Amino acid sequence: MYPKININLDLIGKNASYIKEELKNIGADIFFVSKLLMGDIKVAKVIVDSGINYIADSRIKNIIKMKNNGIVAEYVMLRIPALSEIEEVVKNTEMSLVSEIKTVEAINREAAKNNKVYKIIYMIDLGDLREGVWYEKAISEILSVKNFKNTELVGIGTNLGCFGGILPDEKNLGMLSEFALELKEEGFGIKFVSGGTTAVLKMVEEKRNIGKVNNFRLGESILLGTDATNGKNVSGCSQDTIILEAEIIELKEKPSLPVGEKGYDAFGRVPEFTDRGIRKKAILNIGEQDINPSGLIPEDKNAEVLHSSSDHTIVDVTESTENYEVGSIMKFRMNYGCALKASTSPYVEKNYISNTRNSAEVK
Ligand SMILES: *Cc1c(COP(=O)(O)O)cnc(C)c1O
Repeated sequence: MYPKININLDLIGKNASYIKEELKNIGADIFFVSKLLMGDIKVAKVIVDSGINYIADSRIKNIIKMKNNGIVAEYVMLRIPALSEIEEVVKNTEMSLVSEIKTVEAINREAAKNNKVYKIIYMIDLGDLREGVWYEKAISEILSVKNFKNTELVGIGTNLGCFGGILPDEKNLGMLSEFALELKEEGFGIKFVSGGTTAVLKMVEEKRNIGKVNNFRLGESILLGTDATNGKNVSGCSQDTIILEAEIIELKEKPSLPVGEKGYDAFGRVPEFTDRGIRKKAILNIGEQDINPSGLIPEDKNAEVLHSSSDHTIVDVTESTENYEVGSIMKFRMNYGCALKASTSPYVEKNYISNTRNSAEVK
């Protein structure tokens, strides 16, 4: 049945090993970020087998799923936890990114109840405007975690290239490094300077100075081989890791301009069209509920994705040299946002491919 995504476990494993080696050379380790594939068990197994010991996810449900399915790793809560999930977070993870003292207080209370010392990485906002204490107030806020006996500050981190699209550079990573030094002087054992994301791999590749950054939280680069923030592929990595397949349910020649009075489309947008005469168009059995049409990259270089409504995607195949018919399958690579949607849609089946792993592990 279609649509489905083919997840190539061998290629994901290769990407993980390649990046792991590159980072080992500069003394940095990896938190594998599993959220893109909803904490997929088979992928998590591949990652752990590649020698990466930390798995980070933004959803506690994904972490619990991996744990319950026997994936042994040090689990990291990646999204700063909600107060309502602290019990689950402290129970199921070793470490969390945080940015609120009130949250640390709640973590500390829960950890004390369980006779544990729970680890935290304090996030600092260096300009991207997502989570983290604003850098000008960072030290004073972070120093107040000293008061908590069942909470151990093991690192600081920052998030760049996510909300504000701010690129990592010598300046912002240098600032993070300075903060790490200051906190060390204050007596904290700062094991993780977590300034690395997929977007920072480009700096490593170019042998630029990333300061004291020694931890990378990586999802996109390993799973898709791409770097959305820099708009490039990650060198040494495959992009054929996750391929979407959808089926043609209608194939007809139609005008490029709609006929009739124009209102809004199904999503309240006013669609724009240019007149290119009669075109050959395929309708695929997938839509906005499962993908972002703008994030689909057809394997057929001569096909052009036009747009989608909830359940249909229209592809112009006029220039294609393929002999499509109703029932033909079209294949696509996907960008991050589109892959996230496809992998979390219950309507898109997951199919695993591997030539190196035994079939029980793959099925
Ligand atoms: C998603 C996420 C990452 C991983 O980013 P990728 O672009 O998938 O490598 C890292 N850190 C945080 C806090 C995240 O939420």
